[in-house]
Amino acid sequence: MKITIIGGGVNGLCSAYYLVKEGYQVEIIDESFSESGTSYGNAGMIVPSHFMPMASPGVIAKGIKWMFDSSSPFYVKPRIDFRLMQWLYKFYKSCNETNVAKSQELIWQYNELSKSEYRTIASDEKLEFDFHEQGLMMLYKNDKSQKEEISIGEKAQKLGLEVQFLDEEGVQKLNPNTRVNVKGGVYYPGDAHLYSNFFMGEMKKLLITRGVNFITKKIISGTTSSNKITNLKCEDGSIINTDQLVITAGTWTWQILQKLGLKLLLEDGKGYSITKFDTNQRPTIPSILTHEKVAITPMGNNLRITGTLEISGISNKINAKRVNGFLNAVPKYFPEINVSFPSDEKEIWTGFRPLSPDGVPYVGRSEKLNNLIVATGHGMMGMSLGPATGKLVSEIVAGKESSLDLSLLSLER
Ligand SMILES: Cc1cc2nc3c(=O)[nH]c(=O)nc-3n(C[C@H](O)[C@H](O)[C@H](O)COP(=O)(O)OP(=O)(O)OC[C@H]3O[C@@H](n4cnc5c(N)ncnc54)[C@H](O)[C@@H]3O)c2cc1C
Repeated sequence: MKITIIGGGVNGLCSAYYLVKEGYQVEIIDESFSESGTSYGNAGMIVPSHFMPMASPGVIAKGIKWMFDSSSPFYVKPRIDFRLMQWLYKFYKSCNETNVAKSQELIWQYNELSKSEYRTIASDEKLEFDFHEQGLMMLYKNDKSQKEEISIGEKAQKLGLEVQFLDEEGVQKLNPNTRVNVKGGVYYPGDAHLYSNFFMGEMKKLLITRGVNFITKKIISGTTSSNKITNLKCEDGSIINTDQLVITAGTWTWQILQKLGLKLLLEDGKGYSITKFDTNQRPTIPSILTHEKVAITPMGNNLRITGTLEISGISNKINAKRVNGFLNAVPKYFPEINVSFPSDEKEIWTGFRPLSPDGVPYVGRSEKLNNLIVATGHGMMGMSLGPATGKLVSEIVAGKESSLDLSLLSLER
């Protein structure tokens, strides 16, 4: 049977990888296979520590405060959009302890599975993508952030994660290459990081050698008959027949599903990154500056700084105030690292996190269209969850027992 995948981001490539391992013939369709897509310029953090869904208590209050600060890390562009209203309402209803309690273990296990799959891919396939299991540091400079991070750290310990609570000296010891200026940090030794661009490039090369067909086309609609999708229509007018369809089109997934008569609540969480090339001034351990929500990742000889989450519609327009907002935070924590606003805006990368309203991904077979599987909504963890997602998709296609309980991930929830 031929499997057609729409979307050549990390989830599409990883799905192809595991499907080929199962012996399927696979084709991936992407409108551009752009090497500046969301799966390339992200922070590359592999995060079992991020077991709390984005929709959790306290987020709404913080979000409202941030809305009135033009340099803050979070923003929802006010607009009359019925879909956005529905998404916000479901998000609001999900920001509670019940949502956290029911999904935290699954999100943790999903991340752990993915991390171990990354390890296996790196060693079995001899892929070089700068994968390091050195942990992640949540850094803080004030009492409020300290209290919040320690409380999350204690929850993590209860769940079974290894957590270390460090003072400034402890943080400095783990980052000998650059000076730190913090109150302390919560360190999760079980996290990892990688160079996203390298992983995507290496995986694509591997899939080509394994016979995966890469088709550059934009899908604009499809034909359904007897609860099945029979073919896909491309923007250039061509038609692609399909036996089994997997949609991993990130933020754009809902648009394709809408053309097939299905509804999925998904919003775009736009973010930016800037990569400083060939710099010695970089922390050893990837860090999150918790108050400003900035991620700092050493990637090879480079340093990547990422920040902001804007739900503002899909556009690559750069909001200079917000970019400055997160760049200015860096030297406050790492006084020797200076990052100024680039003279050329092309150096600022933008990407779009596919956000589900309850903060839990969607992975499963459609109840309405029998030959359709969807895997999206991974939000801030799409890179982290890539290999596990690919494995889950291949298990669904093959009708095998699933590595994780899929009920919480269902599309129709
Ligand atoms: C600033 C930032 C930092 C991040 N940091 C991290 C991190 O540290 N760790 C982590 O785990 N995650 C991180 N993420 C999130 C992660 O990057 C995403 O969740 C992940 O890349 C999504 O992958 P995907 O394969 O689902 O979608 P994408 O990578 O968006 O791929 C979807 C593909 O579908 C294609 N497509 C869309 N519509 C069509 C169509 N109609 N026809 C054909 N093709 C189509 C697109 O061209 C695209 O290539 C970050 C994101 C951002 C923005």
